[in-house]
Amino acid sequence: MIIAIDGPAGAGKSTVAKAVAKKLGFKCLDTGAMYRAVAWLAVDEGVSLEDDDALGRIARGCTIAFDHVPGDPIPKGISINGHDVTDAIRTTRIDQAVSPVSAAGPVREAMVEQQRRIGHQGDYVIEGRDIGTVVFPEAELKVFLTATDEERAHRRVRQNVDRGVGSISYSEVLADIIRRDEADMNRAHAPLKAADDARIIDSTGTYIEDIIEQICVLAQIAQDGKQAR
Ligand code: C5P
Repeated sequence: MIIAIDGPAGAGKSTVAKAVAKKLGFKCLDTGAMYRAVAWLAVDEGVSLEDDDALGRIARGCTIAFDHVPGDPIPKGISINGHDVTDAIRTTRIDQAVSPVSAAGPVREAMVEQQRRIGHQGDYVIEGRDIGTVVFPEAELKVFLTATDEERAHRRVRQNVDRGVGSISYSEVLADIIRRDEADMNRAHAPLKAADDARIIDSTGTYIEDIIEQICVLAQIAQDGKQAR
């Protein structure tokens, strides 16, 4: 079974996806981390972020691996071509580089292929921007998680403080998420939008635990419906 969680930057997708996966015994895939890893490699190799073909070559040729602590289905880190980039993909530099990289059609083709291959290996909670619309349109449950710009910026600042990486300036983070959402919503390939059959959940002013509970209930209903068919 696939649970797709899409939505704008900082809506709490990662926290919710990990918690739901843990509760349901599913695996968890952060597709944003994959685009960030490709952006990191492009920057590291000095590839022009405007050269879609060169970015596509990088995306097709790279090896992305999620690192696990044995027995824990939630990945602890990510590497690309053997470089551990768990922290490096969360810097302001990569926040900026990831939008042009993820807008490149050849990059998306390569990532979507990998994401489908991973998702077909079992029960997954997959978070991103186009999971319910493009990657797994047949997902049994689709959630589109939103919150106000201000709440998302506050959450992202707290997350950056906890991680010890990324900007901790509220105004800088707010400007970044607004800029990235604009880019994600207006790009030609797989723009950020809710699938027609997605549950739209606005988490503004709501405890994240309540959202997690709500999604687990929806997942149970979807699973029961699947078994009844
Ligand atoms: O989820 P996160 O904010 O880490 O994603 C970083 C960027 O990766 C997004 O701003 C978006 O440009 C891109 N992305 C995407 N499609 C996905 C996941 C992320 O284009 N499925």
